[in-house]
Amino acid sequence: MSDFIPVNTPLLNGNEKKYLNACIDTGWISSEGPFVREFEEQFAALMGRRHGIAVANGSVALDAAVAALGLGPGDEVILPTFTIISCAAAVVRAGAKPVLVDSDPLTWNLEVSQVEAKLTLRTRAVMVVHTYGLPVDMDPLLALKEKYGFLLLEDAAEMHGQTYRGRPCGSFGEISTFSFYPNKHITTGEGGMIVTDDPQLAEKCRSLRNLCFQPGKRFVHEELGWNFRLSNLQAALGLAQMERLEEFVARKRHMGRRYRELLAGVPGLQLPLEQTDYAENIYWVYGVVLEDNLGFDAEEAMARLAACQVGTRPFFWPMHEQPVFRKRGWFLDERYPVAERLARRGFYLPSGLALTDAQMERVADAVRQVCR
Ligand SMILES: *Cc1c(COP(=O)(O)O)cnc(C)c1O
Repeated sequence: MSDFIPVNTPLLNGNEKKYLNACIDTGWISSEGPFVREFEEQFAALMGRRHGIAVANGSVALDAAVAALGLGPGDEVILPTFTIISCAAAVVRAGAKPVLVDSDPLTWNLEVSQVEAKLTLRTRAVMVVHTYGLPVDMDPLLALKEKYGFLLLEDAAEMHGQTYRGRPCGSFGEISTFSFYPNKHITTGEGGMIVTDDPQLAEKCRSLRNLCFQPGKRFVHEELGWNFRLSNLQAALGLAQMERLEEFVARKRHMGRRYRELLAGVPGLQLPLEQTDYAENIYWVYGVVLEDNLGFDAEEAMARLAACQVGTRPFFWPMHEQPVFRKRGWFLDERYPVAERLARRGFYLPSGLALTDAQMERVADAVRQVCR
């Protein structure tokens, strides 16, 4: 089993050990340590934002963002059906209603042309989720925002270092969020970041992250928050990783190009778009979609690849097909054919930053064999 190629292995060979040792040497291991603020400031600046609030992971970043924006009962939030549960969960837990939109079959991102038809008088926000390496087409969405005045919440969990027409992903939302899970472009093991330009929203997020303790009367609470804090140990990793973001993005792009060369001519395989007119793919993961003429689905392909010692992960399962929501009677008569197809025919190949070129060749050989 030792030659099994995992779907992700992070790269931790920069200053990670040095900064972690500093935590241990100084005794600063909690969220009170100095690396947390440093990480927040540097990360926010890198994304072109004024404020950064480090949190425990990318999912709770969304919870805090939804709460800080004041979304709740009676409000509708438009989001893609093809996304991770965290997005819909944040909306639902706040008591607001998720309203779904299908994806583009080539970029796999929110189909912006379908958003306007979903707007109602109750629409308070649109949550965009840049997916798998290419950004959502923001210009037409920003035009709608201008016209209708909804709030924009941007889930940039997969987009560290990506830009839309030259502007950083994560710089578009009233609030934008990131994750530092080990398969993201920079990792803290577990971790996340909220970024915003609005000082009041930033303060609100800081307070929500820290149980809404009050400065003067610590244990007297005007509101309910959470413990969503990031530790100094995690921030130490983040600082070391962030130093290499450009290099990591370049490596991912190299991997994308290499996979494309290696997989050229494999019949029945849709590869990720290399670019659109607004961005060049950064391949958060290297996704593939099986064409309809292949007589098997993603589940079968992934099982066959596992037998060849190649790790994979399925694509997202759409929100409108989630048992947890269908049990509540939601989305029962809604169909989003692109998302449904991506869920059944899409999966991703080993894409982590520690993946070697030799391993990519082995993966491609296995894919070729499986698709024959
Ligand atoms: C990874 C991810 C998250 C969740 O981040 P965690 O840190 O794992 O909680 C949220 N949204 C998207 C789009 C993601 O890819």
